[in-house]
Amino acid sequence: MAVCETCGNDYEMAFEIRAQGATHTFDSFECAIHKLAPRCEHCGVTIIGHGHQVEGSFYCCAHCASAASGASTVDHA
Ligand SMILES: [Zn+2]
Ligand SMILES: [Zn+2]
Repeated sequence: MAVCETCGNDYEMAFEIRAQGATHTFDSFECAIHKLAPRCEHCGVTIIGHGHQVEGSFYCCAHCASAASGASTVDHA
């Protein structure tokens, strides 16, 4: 049995995710995303897909990246 780091649920199907050298335990992907996913620096949305990284900052889409940083990036269609 393992306890979820995000919500504290003790769940027999809990799983581990290794990120940046540390191992984290979660009971659901939602809890893992809540804890580990970066957030868009412009709108605060949780970035679950690839997102955009501009000069060390994460953005959910090209619109936010260019609005916040002035950089011109484009979404992959
Ligand atoms: Zn949880
Ligand atoms: Zn955004």
